[in-house]
Amino acid sequence: MEKEDRTKQPEIPEKDAQEEPTGSIRQELTQEDVQRLSEALEMAFATDGKESEEAGAESESEAEPLPVPRPRRSRRSAATRREEREAREAREREEEVQSRRRNDDEEQFSIPEVLPVLPLKDTVIYPFSLQPLGVGQERSLRLIDHVMNSNRLVVLVAQKDASMDMAGPDDIFKVGTVSRVVRMFRMPDGTVQIVVQGLERVEINEFVQEKPFLAAHITPRPEIQEQDNETEAIKRNVISYFQRLVALVQNVPEGVAAATLNLEEARQVAYVIATFLQMDLELRQKILELDSVRAKLQELSAFLTHELEILELGKKIQTSAQEEMSKMQREYLLREQLKAIQRELGEESEEQATINELRAKIEEAHMPEEALKEANRELARLEKMPTASPEYSIIRTYLELLVSLPWDKSTGEKIDVARARQILDQDHYGLEKIKERILEYLAVRRLKEERKAEELEHQSEADKAESGGESEATHPAAPPPSQERLRQLNREPILCFVGPPGVGKTSLGQSIARALGRKFARISLGGIRDEAEIRGHRRTYIGAMPGRIIQTLRRVGSNDPVIMLDEVDKVGADWRGDPSSALLEVLDPEQNYNFRDNYLDVPFDLSRVMFIATANSLEPIPAPLRDRMEILELSGYTEEQKLNIARNYLLPKQIEANALKPNEVEVDDDAIRRVIRDYTREAGVRNLEREIGSLCRKAARQIAEGKQPPIHITAEVVPEYLGRPRFFEEAAERIDRPGIATGLVWTPVGGEIIFIEAAAMPGKGQLTLTGQLGDVMKESAMAALSYVRSNAKALGLPENVFEDQNVHIHVPAGAIPKDGPSAGVTMVTVLVSLASGRKVRSDVAMTGEITLRGRVMPIGGVKEKVLAAYRSGIRTVILPRRNEPDLLEDLPKELRDQMHFVFASDIRDVLNAALEPATTQGEQVEGEENGEERTHAQDERAAAKA
Ligand code: ADP
Repeated sequence: MEKEDRTKQPEIPEKDAQEEPTGSIRQELTQEDVQRLSEALEMAFATDGKESEEAGAESESEAEPLPVPRPRRSRRSAATRREEREAREAREREEEVQSRRRNDDEEQFSIPEVLPVLPLKDTVIYPFSLQPLGVGQERSLRLIDHVMNSNRLVVLVAQKDASMDMAGPDDIFKVGTVSRVVRMFRMPDGTVQIVVQGLERVEINEFVQEKPFLAAHITPRPEIQEQDNETEAIKRNVISYFQRLVALVQNVPEGVAAATLNLEEARQVAYVIATFLQMDLELRQKILELDSVRAKLQELSAFLTHELEILELGKKIQTSAQEEMSKMQREYLLREQLKAIQRELGEESEEQATINELRAKIEEAHMPEEALKEANRELARLEKMPTASPEYSIIRTYLELLVSLPWDKSTGEKIDVARARQILDQDHYGLEKIKERILEYLAVRRLKEERKAEELEHQSEADKAESGGESEATHPAAPPPSQERLRQLNREPILCFVGPPGVGKTSLGQSIARALGRKFARISLGGIRDEAEIRGHRRTYIGAMPGRIIQTLRRVGSNDPVIMLDEVDKVGADWRGDPSSALLEVLDPEQNYNFRDNYLDVPFDLSRVMFIATANSLEPIPAPLRDRMEILELSGYTEEQKLNIARNYLLPKQIEANALKPNEVEVDDDAIRRVIRDYTREAGVRNLEREIGSLCRKAARQIAEGKQPPIHITAEVVPEYLGRPRFFEEAAERIDRPGIATGLVWTPVGGEIIFIEAAAMPGKGQLTLTGQLGDVMKESAMAALSYVRSNAKALGLPENVFEDQNVHIHVPAGAIPKDGPSAGVTMVTVLVSLASGRKVRSDVAMTGEITLRGRVMPIGGVKEKVLAAYRSGIRTVILPRRNEPDLLEDLPKELRDQMHFVFASDIRDVLNAALEPATTQGEQVEGEENGEERTHAQDERAAAKA
């Protein structure tokens, strides 16, 4: 046939290689390739290609394997496809005509005896197949050069080992395919690409040369072409399998799949389909080597069935997996679509609305810089986070806290001391000293605020002056107040109200807040053991929360409230940390402008908050905390004071709380007194308020039931309303024999009376103590016993008193632990009473400590104790002389008027005042009414008389 080859290419280095893609169908042909190949085909067979020399493509460099283009299946409309199909069918009809001519040509085609042999890596070329090949090795390039200059025919044969370069005669298979190089392209990078057309199967015999390229004798090996029905059936099978496979993998050019349908000859079918299947080299070579076409088809059929099975199974797996996936994806997609739709409509999605809302709130919150930065950072994280993520809600909660804190919201007005006085008086009866102290505190605070404002103003003026360009020389700027100075101005003690319940600590705090126009909040510290209660948990903990301080600020919504820290004396400490150290930080003006809650993690300025602490007792407050505080003691009220409070404050409050009108209930003073005496026994007025509330409720009920108001409540009818009296004056009843006396103790809920009993029984002088006594009390008892025994004679007792007896001292009444150094005198009195057989006066109560030599030592809590005695109906109280000044200072005048005090410096003063005369002698102890004036000599005389 054609022979116009006039190539003038230089010898080019060679490389014969063909990279195979994976997958069951060879994919190196794209639509374009098919197009190109069919053109080449036409050229080769029909027009006998005027070989095109690609201009400017010459190069000496090594050629690379032909890059394998991946098929891209373009989506086209049905119409285009139909047009294309019609065009193709027309072309195919045309081709059929030509192909007959071609066949004729082939027939004429004669195979030379000797031909160059080109080993291929991993590739088997079949007759009928049209294939691009990349050529790079020098040897191969020479071969191509030679071939292009002669008849363009070459034997293509697979080499056994693809990794081998320069395969020799023994490294290649014996059966190959005579092929024609139908086209050659020189690539810009110097490689050569050829398109070959497989023509005829040949056997390679002896080699005639190995250099510069392989050449060998060859003999054609025509296939056995069976014409039976079986072959036809297998052929059809193979075609239909191939169609199915193509449909499944969808990556074979359409033309190819369709073209196989039109193939008639079984041999053609076998080779064309084999060309497009991705088989391993052995199988490919086997299909070439099998002589029988039927056998070839059988191999293909087996391969195709296997492939189809795997593919179909894979497809099944894929679809079920896809169904799983798509369920999740569907929601996601729908949500995304929803967002897109909402965007289109100009609406916001829910998430976006949340984000926008938060952003607006962040702006409104006027946070300080650090907090603002943190807020914006978290907001940015939130924006990127799917709402379903658990972290989403954590961040959102955090941001909501940040924006809801009162960073710059304050309510406080300028402190008006006169108005504060008014308000304190309005809300509270009495408490003069406390009120004075509060007003002083407020006055100082006001001054400090003024000073601070002045200094800040100076500074800003100075700043302005500087920025205004005026030289420092003409306008010497005041030095700006340093942080140090500002803190100094902030520095002031924290008020701490100490006293029993119900004395008005909380309501004083409320009044202060009212006077300052600030919000009021309480934080109860009772029983707090975990530092995190104050300072919060780190956000990394699940369920983390801010501490109580930050929570409270959020709740009140202003940054300058009055916060009452209740029960600072009940803060505990354990392994969870020491809350009191966190409290210290909160209360310390040097630190609290920069308070950092663990949860919040950015500083919050607490310096504007006014903290007030309350406690029932002073001792348990940790010393460093106590140092920070200015202690104001409220010890309790007298009956008169209570009466006043009830009449003027509690009753009106309760009348209102029970929806009564002021004139609908009338309560006599005596009725109130009775309630105070018989129904409450407390230092404060909390129970009193409750009982009065009870009276009002009952009155309200009577009115509701139709009784004509006003309801008049007298002392006599109180039991009708409140039931049996709860307390009565028990001292008289209990002190009915020698060996029992009334003592006074201090407790956190106010003063208390206690009864101390002693009993003696035969024994060896042992002392037993019962009744929840603390160590100090036990020691008091021992000291008392020692004193009595060592001073028996002076006390008028037998010298061997209690020598052959065991003494038992018992302190009944309640389960309150009793401790404190104030029962010494009572113990001695009880023991002397027991030994002498003289009763202790039931209307006398006593308190005081003793030394072993009988001196009476001062004690604390005088006012509370006196009040307790008074509440219990006792009108004479024996006190250490050195406590006399306390009394004058603390005690309301009305109490001093009503009560009688005996000041003792020696135990004998106590005994004289406390013991009843010995009944047998019927003698009165001298000067008992003014024991304080007695001398030792007199005492001794009295004792001797006894
Ligand atoms: P505390 O905090 O000390 O336990 P509260 O402040 O709760 O006591 O007082 C209990 C009740 O007694 C409140 O209703 C309070 O108004 C009232 N109260 C206490 N002291 C006085 C007082 N001096 N004048 C008027 N009311 C008082």
